[in-house]
Amino acid sequence: MSVKKFVLPISGVLLFVIVLFNADESRFPASVRAVVRGLKLPLKIAALSAREPDAQIAVPVEGVRAGQIEDTWHAPRSGGRLHEGQDIFARRGTNVRSATEGYVVRVSENQLGGNTVLIAGAGGRSYYYAHLDAYAPGLAVGDYVTPETALGFVGTTGNAAGTAPHLHFGVYAPVAGAINPLPLLQAERGGATTPDRFMGD
Ligand SMILES: [Zn+2]
Repeated sequence: MSVKKFVLPISGVLLFVIVLFNADESRFPASVRAVVRGLKLPLKIAALSAREPDAQIAVPVEGVRAGQIEDTWHAPRSGGRLHEGQDIFARRGTNVRSATEGYVVRVSENQLGGNTVLIAGAGGRSYYYAHLDAYAPGLAVGDYVTPETALGFVGTTGNAAGTAPHLHFGVYAPVAGAINPLPLLQAERGGATTPDRFMGD
Protein backbone atom coordinates (compact mmCIF):
# COMPACT_ATOMS: atom_id res chain seq x y z
CA MET A 1 0.00 0.00 0.00
CA SER A 2 1.47 3.28 -1.02
CA VAL A 3 0.65 6.57 0.66
CA LYS A 4 0.74 8.24 -2.74
CA LYS A 5 -2.52 6.53 -3.65
CA PHE A 6 -4.33 8.68 -1.08
CA VAL A 7 -2.58 11.98 -1.63
CA LEU A 8 -4.36 12.86 -4.83
CA PRO A 9 -7.94 12.14 -3.69
CA ILE A 10 -7.36 13.87 -0.35
CA SER A 11 -5.86 16.90 -2.10
CA GLY A 12 -8.88 16.93 -4.39
CA VAL A 13 -11.33 16.91 -1.48
CA LEU A 14 -9.37 19.62 0.32
CA LEU A 15 -9.30 21.78 -2.79
CA PHE A 16 -13.05 21.28 -3.25
CA VAL A 17 -13.67 22.32 0.36
CA ILE A 18 -11.43 25.38 0.05
CA VAL A 19 -13.09 26.46 -3.21
CA LEU A 20 -16.55 25.92 -1.71
CA PHE A 21 -15.66 27.82 1.45
CA ASN A 22 -14.50 30.83 -0.53
CA ALA A 23 -17.04 30.73 -3.34
CA ASP A 24 -19.38 33.64 -3.86
CA GLU A 25 -22.74 32.02 -3.06
CA SER A 26 -24.74 34.73 -4.80
CA ARG A 27 -23.54 33.46 -8.19
CA PHE A 28 -25.27 30.09 -7.70
CA PRO A 29 -28.95 29.32 -8.31
CA ALA A 30 -31.09 29.19 -5.14
CA SER A 31 -31.23 25.39 -4.92
CA VAL A 32 -27.44 25.04 -5.26
CA ARG A 33 -27.00 27.93 -2.84
CA ALA A 34 -29.00 26.05 -0.17
CA VAL A 35 -26.85 22.92 -0.59
CA VAL A 36 -23.59 24.90 -0.54
CA ARG A 37 -24.78 26.75 2.55
CA GLY A 38 -25.53 23.43 4.27
CA LEU A 39 -22.09 22.07 3.41
CA LYS A 40 -20.35 25.23 4.55
CA LEU A 41 -22.18 25.55 7.88
CA PRO A 42 -20.06 22.98 9.81
CA LEU A 43 -16.91 24.71 8.54
CA LYS A 44 -18.16 28.12 9.65
CA ILE A 45 -19.16 26.73 13.05
CA ALA A 46 -15.76 25.04 13.40
CA ALA A 47 -14.01 28.33 12.64
CA LEU A 48 -16.08 30.13 15.26
CA SER A 49 -15.53 27.28 17.77
CA ALA A 50 -11.80 27.82 17.51
CA ARG A 51 -12.19 31.34 18.89
CA GLU A 52 -12.25 32.24 22.59
CA PRO A 53 -15.76 32.01 24.05
CA ASP A 54 -17.50 35.35 24.66
CA ALA A 55 -16.62 36.77 28.09
CA GLN A 56 -19.53 39.17 27.91
CA ILE A 57 -22.85 38.65 26.16
CA ALA A 58 -25.85 40.88 25.51
CA VAL A 59 -29.14 40.50 27.39
CA PRO A 60 -31.22 38.89 24.62
CA VAL A 61 -34.55 40.46 25.61
CA GLU A 62 -35.14 44.02 24.45
CA GLY A 63 -35.38 46.61 27.23
CA VAL A 64 -34.09 44.31 30.00
CA ARG A 65 -30.84 45.04 31.84
CA ALA A 66 -28.73 42.28 33.41
CA GLY A 67 -29.32 43.73 36.89
CA GLN A 68 -33.08 43.13 36.51
CA ILE A 69 -32.70 39.38 36.04
CA GLU A 70 -33.54 37.41 39.17
CA ASP A 71 -31.02 34.58 39.52
CA THR A 72 -32.86 31.26 39.06
CA TRP A 73 -29.81 29.18 38.10
CA HIS A 74 -30.21 25.63 39.51
CA ALA A 75 -33.57 26.46 41.11
CA PRO A 76 -35.54 23.22 41.62
CA ARG A 77 -37.87 22.24 38.80
CA SER A 78 -40.42 19.46 38.22
CA GLY A 79 -39.20 15.87 38.10
CA GLY A 80 -36.15 16.60 40.28
CA ARG A 81 -34.55 18.72 37.55
CA LEU A 82 -32.50 21.81 38.25
CA HIS A 83 -33.07 24.98 36.29
CA GLU A 84 -30.26 25.03 33.74
CA GLY A 85 -30.52 28.61 32.60
CA GLN A 86 -32.01 31.98 33.39
CA ASP A 87 -35.58 33.18 32.90
CA ILE A 88 -35.84 36.69 31.53
CA PHE A 89 -39.33 38.10 32.03
CA ALA A 90 -40.90 40.65 29.68
CA ARG A 91 -44.22 41.42 28.07
CA ARG A 92 -45.46 38.86 25.55
CA GLY A 93 -44.19 39.74 22.09
CA THR A 94 -41.07 41.59 23.29
CA ASN A 95 -38.21 41.21 20.82
CA VAL A 96 -35.66 38.49 21.49
CA ARG A 97 -32.26 39.07 19.89
CA SER A 98 -29.17 36.90 19.85
CA ALA A 99 -26.92 37.39 22.88
CA THR A 100 -23.87 36.70 20.74
CA GLU A 101 -22.41 36.30 17.31
CA GLY A 102 -23.06 32.82 15.93
CA TYR A 103 -24.91 30.55 13.55
CA VAL A 104 -28.46 29.23 13.85
CA VAL A 105 -28.16 25.45 14.17
CA ARG A 106 -31.69 24.56 15.19
CA VAL A 107 -35.14 26.15 14.92
CA SER A 108 -37.54 23.64 16.42
CA GLU A 109 -40.34 22.87 18.81
CA ASN A 110 -39.98 20.60 21.84
CA GLN A 111 -42.14 19.71 24.83
CA LEU A 112 -40.28 21.67 27.52
CA GLY A 113 -38.99 24.57 25.49
CA GLY A 114 -41.87 25.14 23.09
CA ASN A 115 -40.58 27.19 20.16
CA THR A 116 -36.82 27.16 20.50
CA VAL A 117 -33.72 28.42 18.71
CA LEU A 118 -30.20 27.07 19.21
CA ILE A 119 -27.19 29.18 18.22
CA ALA A 120 -23.60 27.92 17.92
CA GLY A 121 -21.20 30.59 19.14
CA ALA A 122 -17.49 31.18 19.75
CA GLY A 123 -15.56 28.63 21.79
CA GLY A 124 -17.96 25.82 20.93
CA ARG A 125 -20.65 27.26 23.17
CA SER A 126 -24.34 26.84 22.38
CA TYR A 127 -26.99 29.39 23.26
CA TYR A 128 -30.55 28.19 23.75
CA TYR A 129 -33.66 30.40 23.49
CA ALA A 130 -36.96 28.85 24.59
CA HIS A 131 -40.69 29.53 25.10
CA LEU A 132 -40.76 31.88 22.09
CA ASP A 133 -44.22 33.10 21.14
CA ALA A 134 -43.08 33.04 17.49
CA TYR A 135 -39.89 33.07 15.47
CA ALA A 136 -38.54 36.16 13.72
CA PRO A 137 -39.79 36.08 10.12
CA GLY A 138 -37.42 34.23 7.80
CA LEU A 139 -35.17 32.87 10.57
CA ALA A 140 -33.51 29.70 9.27
CA VAL A 141 -30.82 27.16 10.13
CA GLY A 142 -27.48 28.41 8.83
CA ASP A 143 -28.22 32.11 9.39
CA TYR A 144 -25.30 34.15 10.71
CA VAL A 145 -26.44 36.17 13.73
CA THR A 146 -25.12 39.02 15.87
CA PRO A 147 -26.60 40.75 18.94
CA GLU A 148 -28.57 42.86 16.44
CA THR A 149 -30.31 39.83 14.92
CA ALA A 150 -33.94 39.17 15.88
CA LEU A 151 -34.65 35.54 16.77
CA GLY A 152 -38.25 35.76 17.88
CA PHE A 153 -40.63 37.07 20.53
CA VAL A 154 -41.09 36.42 24.26
CA GLY A 155 -43.92 33.98 24.97
CA THR A 156 -45.12 31.01 27.02
CA THR A 157 -44.79 28.04 24.66
CA GLY A 158 -43.73 24.62 25.98
CA ASN A 159 -43.89 24.09 29.75
CA ALA A 160 -44.11 27.84 30.30
CA ALA A 161 -47.83 27.69 29.43
CA GLY A 162 -49.72 29.43 32.23
CA THR A 163 -46.67 31.27 33.59
CA ALA A 164 -45.75 34.92 33.06
CA PRO A 165 -44.20 35.33 29.60
CA HIS A 166 -40.43 34.93 29.68
CA LEU A 167 -37.44 33.82 27.68
CA HIS A 168 -35.68 30.74 29.00
CA PHE A 169 -32.04 31.35 28.14
CA GLY A 170 -29.46 28.56 28.40
CA VAL A 171 -25.71 28.48 27.73
CA TYR A 172 -23.91 25.21 27.09
CA ALA A 173 -20.11 24.81 27.12
CA PRO A 174 -18.35 21.93 25.33
CA VAL A 175 -17.10 20.07 28.46
CA ALA A 176 -18.98 21.64 31.38
CA GLY A 177 -22.44 21.36 29.79
CA ALA A 178 -24.95 23.90 31.06
CA ILE A 179 -23.28 26.93 32.63
CA ASN A 180 -24.86 29.91 34.42
CA PRO A 181 -25.56 32.64 31.84
CA LEU A 182 -25.94 35.39 34.47
CA PRO A 183 -22.23 36.20 35.07
CA LEU A 184 -21.80 36.46 31.27
CA LEU A 185 -24.79 38.79 31.02
CA GLN A 186 -23.52 40.90 33.93
CA ALA A 187 -19.90 41.08 32.77
CA GLU A 188 -18.95 44.55 31.68
CA ARG A 189 -17.44 45.15 28.29
CA GLY A 190 -13.65 45.11 28.36
CA GLY A 191 -13.46 42.90 31.43
CA ALA A 192 -15.34 42.23 34.64
CA THR A 193 -12.76 43.77 36.94
CA THR A 194 -13.55 47.49 36.57
CA PRO A 195 -13.65 48.85 40.13
CA ASP A 196 -16.34 51.49 39.39
CA ARG A 197 -19.18 49.55 40.96
CA PHE A 198 -17.30 49.23 44.28
CA MET A 199 -16.69 52.95 44.49
CA GLY A 200 -19.05 55.45 46.09
CA ASP A 201 -21.42 53.06 47.85
ZN1 LIG B 1 -36.34 28.64 32.44
